[in-house]
Amino acid sequence: MSNEVTLEPRLVKLTTRSGVDIRRTLPHRQIRTIGAWCFLDHYGPTNQSEAMSVGAHPHTGLQTVSWLFSGEIEHRDSLGNNQKIHPGSLNLMTAGWGIAHSELSLDHAIDLHGVQLWVALPDSDRNIPAFFEHHSNLPFFTYESLEIELFVGEYLEHDAQVTIFSDLLGAELNSLRDGITWLPLDPEFEYGFLVDQGEVSINGNSVSPGSLHYLSVGHERVEIKTAGESRLVMLGGRPFEEEILMWWNFIGRTHEEIVEMREAWQSQSARFAPFEDRINIRIPAPEMPNVRLTPRGRNRIL
Ligand code: MN
Repeated sequence: MSNEVTLEPRLVKLTTRSGVDIRRTLPHRQIRTIGAWCFLDHYGPTNQSEAMSVGAHPHTGLQTVSWLFSGEIEHRDSLGNNQKIHPGSLNLMTAGWGIAHSELSLDHAIDLHGVQLWVALPDSDRNIPAFFEHHSNLPFFTYESLEIELFVGEYLEHDAQVTIFSDLLGAELNSLRDGITWLPLDPEFEYGFLVDQGEVSINGNSVSPGSLHYLSVGHERVEIKTAGESRLVMLGGRPFEEEILMWWNFIGRTHEEIVEMREAWQSQSARFAPFEDRINIRIPAPEMPNVRLTPRGRNRIL
């Protein structure tokens, strides 16, 4: 059995994000989750002014992780938070029982470019009250030929000190020149390496920009070889054993729960309080499908 695989992105056009093309690598047909990382959208570089205009929408049962390579996004939410993010800072929103937020790119000259990630909350924590964290003082260090910005979890004696509910890792890796780095890994974690730019090979596999190279548990190190300036995002985590049900912006466990979450949003229940932003658009939930929603299966990389 192969224990690593390169996943090609799916191109997604979001009606709510005019002008930005999304490359989605999680969830993938073969790989549903990497640790508790369950969603990975990679976008840009693209002109800011038309890039992102995501009006108010709800989340449950997950954390959203917003990380930029360039540009600026304004986050507002139903708890009253109003927080811009820039490259090097992290917006982490723990939806728990429920929150609504909007994400709007700002109108200036710098391209918008980054990743939007979701983390599934374990059953024990998925209904906690929502909260929001902004982190602008994250670990930045060099390891062999890579500059590492750690935004989630602990790695190489550094700790991002952000609130997480399972063993997880998230980091941006930059190489300014040709180089080979053997990065130490936790053999109890599985990993994904998203290539953003550059000529990169991972354990000898050439991985083109937009693709995600997955490593199963059991690896003690990985070889990252870069030619010229390159950027990657490294995700890792202890395999998430719970079966989750992802539908629209919700994560639950059963069809009935998802129906309830959807109805709470559609009926403007107090679960998702109203808030103001520059556009004041509320995105309606899609219709439920005619079939019962069932949890996704496990990763399979045969
Ligand atoms: Mn969102």
